[in-house]
Amino acid sequence: MSTSERPPRGHNAAVLLGLLRGRDGLGRAELAERSGLTPQAVSKIVARLRADGLVAEAGRESTGGKPRTLLRLVPEAGYAAGVHLDRDWLTVLLADLAGRQVGCVEGPFRSAGEPGAVPAEVAARLGEVAAAVPAGRLLGVGVGCPGPLDHRTGVPHRVPGLPQWDGYPLRAALAERLGLPVLVDKDTNAAVLAEPQPAGSSVYVHLGSGLGAGLVLDGALYRGPRTNAGEFGHQTVRLDGPRCACGNRGCLEALCLAALRAGDTVGAARLVGVGVANVVRLLDVDRVVLGGRAVLAAPEVFVREVAAQVAERIPDPGWRPVPVTVARAGRRAVAAGAAELVLAPLFGRGV
Ligand SMILES: [Zn+2]
Repeated sequence: MSTSERPPRGHNAAVLLGLLRGRDGLGRAELAERSGLTPQAVSKIVARLRADGLVAEAGRESTGGKPRTLLRLVPEAGYAAGVHLDRDWLTVLLADLAGRQVGCVEGPFRSAGEPGAVPAEVAARLGEVAAAVPAGRLLGVGVGCPGPLDHRTGVPHRVPGLPQWDGYPLRAALAERLGLPVLVDKDTNAAVLAEPQPAGSSVYVHLGSGLGAGLVLDGALYRGPRTNAGEFGHQTVRLDGPRCACGNRGCLEALCLAALRAGDTVGAARLVGVGVANVVRLLDVDRVVLGGRAVLAAPEVFVREVAAQVAERIPDPGWRPVPVTVARAGRRAVAAGAAELVLAPLFGRGV
């Protein structure tokens, strides 16, 4: 079979790459044991991955018997760009196959009010950050932006504060301009992917220029059939409350942003805590992760107040205390997770 006829790497190769990702080295026998594949299948797939430059030898290890060859992922064999389009801030980072950030540019998002100019601005930033990467190694671009949007088509809907984006073919326009595969998801869904993924269910709450949540339920990102899950900020918490950017009244987001504008960080954190307690009640999640620039500006306040609201509102002894932490990826969580939209499937991780 010639190189051009080689079939695409399949699921088993992705599983092996996933086992090697984040580890210093594994032998073929360990790969077989952990993947459930036969040693013969592992040897065959590893030979192909080595020929493709994705896997290399990491040395030899002797444990008394026959020395075994350790294998490792080659992180610089491929890269993905992660783009965070926030309402007023643009972040473009480059991650290698191991998910390590190897470059980042960020600054005011100048074309936010004019979607037709977004591809050119993103292309210019990407050009700066990807200049050092050999041609052909940039595998794709993941984009995280405010919702609502359709994840499959990459078309934003009526995004509060960005009415011009309604119906703009963001994914198609970026793919055409960049000449690369592009994936678009809500900022909160992208941010979830930047976090370590322990088993179970998590809610990631993002408070920046808006308020939203990403949901991991039973180990898988949950978007809902129309990418509408996680509209955490638009739960009504005050029936006669102030008008929200979404058109309704008394949304959690409207109250939270008003508190922040008034300089009342504790009040904003308590409101987030009320919403989180509702979600914990509804979905029985195992953990809560907080992110977004408003949270990162006062992380201790948010962790303390959210944990206090959850404890106060769910005092039942049948509920295990739910840990509340701050996003590990910090202010680049959305961009880092957006790159992961491209990378994760290579390692057999569904997104
Ligand atoms: Zn609303």
